[in-house]
Amino acid sequence: MSIFRKNKPEEPAEVKPSGGSLMAEMALNSIAEGVLIIDASGVIKFANPAAIRMVGATDLYEVAGLYIFSVLNLEDAGGQPIPEDMNPMKGAIVRGEAFSSRDFILVTRSGKKFPIALSLFLSGGAEKIITFRNIAQELEKENEQTEFISTASHEMRTPVASIEGYLGLALNPSTATIDERARKYLTEAHAASQHLGRLFRDLLDITKLDDNRARAHLVPVELTAEVAKFLEDFKQMAAEKGLRLLFGTRNLSSAAGRKVVMPLYVMIDLDFLREIVNNLVENAIKYTPEGGTVWVDVQDYQGQAMIAVSDTGIGIAPEDLAHIFQKFYRADNSDTRTIGGTGLGLYIVKKRTEQMGGRVSADSVLSKGSNFYVLFPRMSQSDYNRQRQIMSNLEAMKIEKPQAVQGKVGEVTLSAAMGAGIAGGASSAVVAGGAESAGANGGANSNSAGANGAANSNSGQNGTTQK
Ligand code: ADP
Repeated sequence: MSIFRKNKPEEPAEVKPSGGSLMAEMALNSIAEGVLIIDASGVIKFANPAAIRMVGATDLYEVAGLYIFSVLNLEDAGGQPIPEDMNPMKGAIVRGEAFSSRDFILVTRSGKKFPIALSLFLSGGAEKIITFRNIAQELEKENEQTEFISTASHEMRTPVASIEGYLGLALNPSTATIDERARKYLTEAHAASQHLGRLFRDLLDITKLDDNRARAHLVPVELTAEVAKFLEDFKQMAAEKGLRLLFGTRNLSSAAGRKVVMPLYVMIDLDFLREIVNNLVENAIKYTPEGGTVWVDVQDYQGQAMIAVSDTGIGIAPEDLAHIFQKFYRADNSDTRTIGGTGLGLYIVKKRTEQMGGRVSADSVLSKGSNFYVLFPRMSQSDYNRQRQIMSNLEAMKIEKPQAVQGKVGEVTLSAAMGAGIAGGASSAVVAGGAESAGANGGANSNSAGANGAANSNSGQNGTTQK
C-alpha cells in the first residue's frame, strides 16, 4: 500500500506559507533544499518543490495533509528502518526542540534511498520547519578526504617515529657523546618530534571516528548497570587524586513503601558507551582539583535515559562552553594550560552519542563545576524483552548443527549475562565498585542537574551548550 494519498484531499490543507511574500515563495520554489512545514500534530501544511521531488511525489496534494513520518520515510545510517517511537526527530518534535542530523537515509516513494542532512527548526508558533538535502556526494567526498588523511598520517608516522628514536639515542649518554649546546638543540627537536607523533596518532583516531561506514552495533541493555560497571576502572584514579567518586541514581519509584530503582532500557553499542563514559569521567577527574567530587548519575529525564556526569572542578567559561564539543577545541586559560589534552574527548563523546540516536549537552559555572548530560531514547520493558529475544534467536541461529554442544554453552552464557544485566539494574541504587553511593538526594555540586534533572538550567554566569 502506498504511503501517499492517491487522490486530492477534499479540503486541501493550506498549501502556501501563511503571510509569505511572493519573493519568499519564489526563493522556496527555487532552492534545492527540501522544505516542509508541519503543524503541532506533525501534519504537513506546506512542501516546496524540492521536498516534493525528493520524497518521490509529483504534486503538493500528494503530501499536504499527511502525517510527516508517512511522507519522510527514514532509515538509520546502517539502512535499518527506524521505529517511530525511537526516531530522535519525533522526540524533538514532541519536546519542541530544534534538531539536526546527518545520520538518516531517506527512502523515496519508489524505494530509492539516499543519505540526507535533516534539520528541524522552531517557528516561534505551533508550526515547525523541516529542511533536508541529499548529501550522497558530500559524504563521498568526505570519505575520500578521510581516506587520504588516514593514509598520509599512517605513512608519515613511521619516519617520524624513526626520527624520534634516533634523537632519543643521540640524547642518551650511554649511546652518544654530545656537548651541552647540541643537547639543548636535540632536546627541542626530540620534543617536537614527539608532538608530531601525537598529532599523527590523533589524526588517525579522528579519521576512524569520522569514517561514516563505522556503524553502531546496538544491543538492548539496562543502562544503570552498564554505566556502573565502567566506573569501576576509575576508582583508583579518583582516589589517587583525592577525589570522591559517587555513583547514584535518582531514578527511583516508590513501590509498596520501598524505594526501588526503575530500570532504564536502551539500545546501545557497548563499546561506544564505554568511550562516552570514559571520556566524561576522565575529564571530570582531570579538571577537578584535589578534595573535589565527581558524581555520575543515571536517571530518567523527560522519558529519556540520561547519564549525567557532574564535578566540582574548574568549570568552563560561557565563551568556551559553546565550542567544547568541536574537534581539537581546548579552553585556553591558566588552569587548562597545565592540564594535558588533545581536545578530542568531547568530540568523540558527541559523535558516538549521535551515532546511537542520542544527544549531548553541558552546563557549567566557572570555578564551581560542570555538568555533562548524555540522553538516549528510552525503551519500554516489553520492547527490551522483545529485542533480547531477537538477539538470543540470532545467537542461536549462528550455531551450526555439528557444533551443537558448544553452541548450547554459548547460548547459556549469553542469556546468563543478560539476566545479570537486568538484576543489576533493577535491584538497588548500584554502587560502582568502591565508589560511594550518592543516594537519592545527595548532590555532587550545587551547580548539578540536581534532583530535578534540570538539564537546561542556565542562570547567572552559568553557560549551557547543546550539541
Ligand atoms: P581534552 O583532551 O582537552 O580534555 P576534551 O575534548 O575532552 O579535550 O575537552 C575539551 C575542553 O573542554 C577541554 O580542553 C577543557 O577545556 C574543557 N572541559 C572538558 N571537560 C571539562 C570538565 N569536566 N571541567 C572543565 N573543563 C572541561
